[in-house]
Amino acid sequence: MANLNFSCVACGKCCHDLRLPLTRNEAIDWIARGDTVELLCEALPWLEEPEPSNLHALHKRRRSFASMSGNLRIRVIVILTAIYVGPCPNLDEDFRCRIYATRPHVCRVYPAEINPLIALAPANKLCPPEAWVSSVPLVRDDQVVEPEAKLHIALSRDEDEHEALFKQRLCAELGIGSAGLSNEGFAIHAPAAELLLKALRNEARAEHQSNPSWTIVSNQAATVDALRAAGADSALSSNTSTGSSRYVGFRADAAVAGKAGS
Ligand code: SF4
Ligand code: SF4
Repeated sequence: MANLNFSCVACGKCCHDLRLPLTRNEAIDWIARGDTVELLCEALPWLEEPEPSNLHALHKRRRSFASMSGNLRIRVIVILTAIYVGPCPNLDEDFRCRIYATRPHVCRVYPAEINPLIALAPANKLCPPEAWVSSVPLVRDDQVVEPEAKLHIALSRDEDEHEALFKQRLCAELGIGSAGLSNEGFAIHAPAAELLLKALRNEARAEHQSNPSWTIVSNQAATVDALRAAGADSALSSNTSTGSSRYVGFRADAAVAGKAGS
């Protein structure tokens, strides 16, 4: 069982080169300050409900919504995300956060993990060695015990779950209907800020509004072929990228190995 102590030394490393997942309200505030939010979409074929012992599948189920890709049952996870190369726009010259009092959950939680299935490993974190030489308990028996991190992990997980259906309607309103295959990559959609802000604030959206069928995008021709064989609507990422949509795969493009066309 792991025990870890931790004190932030304000080095600012975790405020650079970001992929920050945001809640709906955090995304509204982020855009309202003039900064950029994108939607990362991933799809999981969902042929049957998972066993109670399958914690990974249950975790994905909680934060996703049910839909279809062609004739294939899927679940879709949509993550509102602030993506930056270099410093966060809220980081000042002295490595202090300009929005410290209202910073997102994920910033309050770091270096702890929001995902309950990932154990905190200092080697995977950006914090320097001296941050881990501290008298302040962060983890006891593999459980986060530091009060603020613990609170915001719980809030973040709750909001992630409760906002899944909202995101389904959000995507329908924005005309977003493509997702990367889970564990292979993401389809990333970048609607115009004004449109996204208006849609995020929209409380009057019809409850039943949803996208009838999603396209599962991949940069692997073999994946596209396999998905199509399973009845899915699937396409190569090289054929789906537009000015406001792109694909980020975890593997190098392999568009010629299989039979997949457009
Ligand atoms: S919002 Fe603040 S704490 Fe979060 S990454 Fe930006 S500067 Fe860092
Ligand atoms: S990388 Fe770690 S020590 Fe540095 S500012 Fe972020 S949380 Fe603090």
